[in-house]
Amino acid sequence: MFGSDTTAVHAGRAGLGPLGVHALPIDLSTTAPLPSVHDGGAAYEQMATGGVPLPGQSTVYQRLWNPTVARFEEGLAAMERAPEAVAFATGMAALSAVLLASVAAGKPHVVAVRPLYGGSDHLLASALLGTRVTFAEPGGVRAALRPDTGLVIAETPANPDLRLLDIAELVRQSDGVPVLVDNTFASPVLQQPLTLGASLVLHSATKFIGGHGDAMGGVVATDAGWASRLRQVRAVTGGLLTPWPAYLLHRGLATLPVRVRAAQENANKIAAALSGHELVTRVLYPGLPECDPLGLVGSQMAGPGSLLSFELRSAEHAERVPAAVGLITHAVSLGGVDSLIQHPAGLTHRPVAAEAKPNAAMLRVSVGLEDADDILNDLVQAIESTR
Ligand SMILES: *Cc1c(COP(=O)(O)O)cnc(C)c1O
Repeated sequence: MFGSDTTAVHAGRAGLGPLGVHALPIDLSTTAPLPSVHDGGAAYEQMATGGVPLPGQSTVYQRLWNPTVARFEEGLAAMERAPEAVAFATGMAALSAVLLASVAAGKPHVVAVRPLYGGSDHLLASALLGTRVTFAEPGGVRAALRPDTGLVIAETPANPDLRLLDIAELVRQSDGVPVLVDNTFASPVLQQPLTLGASLVLHSATKFIGGHGDAMGGVVATDAGWASRLRQVRAVTGGLLTPWPAYLLHRGLATLPVRVRAAQENANKIAAALSGHELVTRVLYPGLPECDPLGLVGSQMAGPGSLLSFELRSAEHAERVPAAVGLITHAVSLGGVDSLIQHPAGLTHRPVAAEAKPNAAMLRVSVGLEDADDILNDLVQAIESTR
């Protein structure tokens, strides 16, 4: 078996030689020639019920299967050490498919550990897909389980306060109920939740995996049984990843390890510098000992990552910072080559219920690949402009 950097560069690239190409091929076909009504129908049946086409079989229609998307799925599955992966149009489409599969299996109840990404929190709290949620503290998961609980959902590091959670302990508490870990913030470079007992790993591939702020996607890495059910939901409901973003996301995998490590090095420096700043009341970053009481960085997680949050004296002070940055862009999203700042309570976590809203004095920074000093200088001048 190759190392993970080699896997990132090469996974999903099998069979290019016979095609006579070196770059990943993009197949944009929305439909595919059918050899006969009988064989086409059999292929359709196979894919609409969660299967993949057999070698040489017609792929019938892009909503059922696409080879460019399948290559990305193979690459991502290898990085997550998963048997399979199923890709979707967005992270939210991926989460929706998991929830629908769980509801269809007669298990509509979800135990979720807050904080979660605001959109995920909103989807669960709204019950729009027929799920019923109980929000639990990390230590209260077992007590929240019911006979109809189909999923336990958590993020680590969590969006937006970077709280870390012990995945193996969460799996123990879940008593055999499948655990879904949103691994968007860590990326498979820093953490592979399936190796710790999770059943499903979800990514907003829009973030680190694409890495350049120009492609949306979502993906779930999991076992063959879940993958089949998720492909069926995807084929029937249509939240699929399309070939062009799939190509960009797959290309992003090759540089993911170097991008994650370089951004992390910057974030480490910035977190340390902000911790000593008189106007910053608190820095939330997994690399700071006070933010990792369980010692998960270095064991569960290979490193602290490149997302950090910090708090100022008041919400009014915090709200003035995004308007004052220059190099950094005031924008939601994260995990790209350039640094972004946003106010979680006002933006990404706006739909979250009042009792679970992030601190309004908090800002979240996605540290990019610029020179650490340039990012830091811009942040510090923006913070000091609120004085
Ligand atoms: C952005 C994000 C999502 C949602 O992904 P989209 O691609 O925007 O649909 C889910 N989870 C986390 C942690 C995110 O940051």
